Formats: sequence, structure tokens, C-alpha cells
Amino acid sequence: MRLKDKVAIVTGAASGIGKGIAAAYAREGAKVAIADLNQQAADATAAELGGSAHAIGIAMDVTDEAQVDAGTQKVIDTFGRLDILVSNAGIQIVSPVVEFEFATWKKMLAIHLDGAFLTTRAALRQMYKQPEGGSVIYMGSVHSKEASQLKAPYVTAKHGLIGLAKVVAKEGAKYKVRANVICPGFVRTPLVEKQIPEQAKEFGISEEDVVKKIMLKETVDGEFTTVEDVAEAAVFFASFPSNALTGQSLVVSHGWFMQ
Ligand code: NAD
Repeated sequence: MRLKDKVAIVTGAASGIGKGIAAAYAREGAKVAIADLNQQAADATAAELGGSAHAIGIAMDVTDEAQVDAGTQKVIDTFGRLDILVSNAGIQIVSPVVEFEFATWKKMLAIHLDGAFLTTRAALRQMYKQPEGGSVIYMGSVHSKEASQLKAPYVTAKHGLIGLAKVVAKEGAKYKVRANVICPGFVRTPLVEKQIPEQAKEFGISEEDVVKKIMLKETVDGEFTTVEDVAEAAVFFASFPSNALTGQSLVVSHGWFMQ
């Protein structure tokens, strides 16, 4: 058990990658808060992880300062501390830059960047009080390193998370708070399932070709990254014992992007 008695908040944990990380953390002995937009979905995921002794559901829109602060406080009141934040909540909306609606651009940056800032700030306020510090993990993407067409705000925000992680690593060091970024390749979650027909339409190609010729084209083996692959990286960052591993980004993408 690599995370015995640690307390974690995972945002966007009612689905996809966040859900997989929450399950892996619970298996490794952590108490996990499933923070997501919808209380019912968060509670259902928490119940799957063994109920209130192991996991709780928290209704939290990560773009809402009051909800983030109140939700984080609820986790600290329930479990007594906070060791790990996984800032994972995210969405994807694709369009060429020339047609991108400003409101959509702002919504994308709010979820990915405001959400990362607000949850980080709330977590640091607790982690700085604990002698053991803590671990902050951002869900970046290969799009933290590379660009793709149609994804301007997503690529912008995912690059931005690396900057935020580096600042938190520097400021947090004296409190034993580490900050790192996981950069997955394509993982077949609802976020990606939605993009396949959208990209097929936008590029005028078949859905099969979107997968083969766009999503997995640059991988070493034509394979999707899995939720479990990403969760393993999240356990590694969370359980690392010292400040030696901080301010870093780790690409988990079947070689799509190589450092
Ligand atoms: P998903 O759609 O399966 O899950 C995202 C979750 O975030 C949902 O439960 C949703 O309700 C929640 N969410 C959305 N907006 C929110 C908000 N404002 N506040 C709180 N929760 C909110 O998607 P996923 O693929 O698991 O994506 C999770 C993260 O991983 C995202 O940051 C995404 O950019 C990143 N990522 C995904 C892939 C991929 O291929 N799936 C690759 C790299 C990075």
C-alpha cells in the first residue's frame, strides 16, 4: 500500500481518467474525495470505492471559487488532512481558431486553468500547515508539449499547467509540497469518444481514420494509453518520498511524444 492513510482530492473523478486515479488511490490505501460537477455522480463513484470510510463525493465546479474552497474544507473536516490534489477536471471543445467563439475559449481556460489555480490554492492552504507537506498533480496532456489543429484553448491551457506546476514546485518546496504534471496520450474516455465523430466531420474522413491517422499516428505501436497507465503515473507522483521529483512533467503516450 503506497498511499496508506493519505488523503486525496481528485477533481473530475466521476468519469474517465479521474475515476481511474481515484480507484487506484483507494486500492493503495488512500482516502479519496471524488470532486465533480454532479453530487449524485460523485456519490455513486465514492460508493463504488467502498463508501464513506474510504471515499466521499463532493459537488464542485472547479471554476467556482466558493465551491472549491467549501469542498476542499469539507474534505479536510471529514478526513482531517489533505496530502494529494489531482487537478484533473477537463473538457474538450474543438474548432478552428478562426471560428472559435470567445465565450467557448473563456470557458475552456476557466475549467483547465482557473480550476487548477483555485484547487491548488485551496489545497496549499492546508498542505503548508502540515509538516509532511503534500503532492499536487496536474492532468496535462501530450498537448502540454505538442499542438494539434482545432484545439487552440486546450493546447494553450495544457501548456499553461506546466508553468503553474513549476511555480508551485518553487514556492512549495520549503513546505515539502511537490508539484508535477502527467501528460497522457489519447485515452478512450467519454472526452475522446465525443471527439472521434467531431474530427471525422471536420476533416472529412472516417472515424476509423481519425483513430489511426490522427490520434494514434505518432505512437510507437498504434495503441491507446489506458486509464490504468495514467493512474499508475499518478500513484508514482503521489507516493514519491522527497522534493527530488518536483516541477516535472511525465509523458505517458506510447511514445507519441518523446522528450
Ligand atoms: P471525462 O469526460 O471522462 O471526465 C472528465 C470529468 O470532469 C467529468 O466527470 C466531468 O463531469 C468533470 N468536469 C468537467 N467540468 C468540470 C468542472 N467545471 N468542475 C468539476 N468537474 C468537471 O474526461 P477524461 O478523458 O477522463 O479527462 C480528464 C482529464 O484528462 C482532462 O483534464 C483531460 O484534458 C485530460 N486528458 C485526457 C486525455 C484523453 O485522451 N482522454 C488525454 C490527455 C489528457
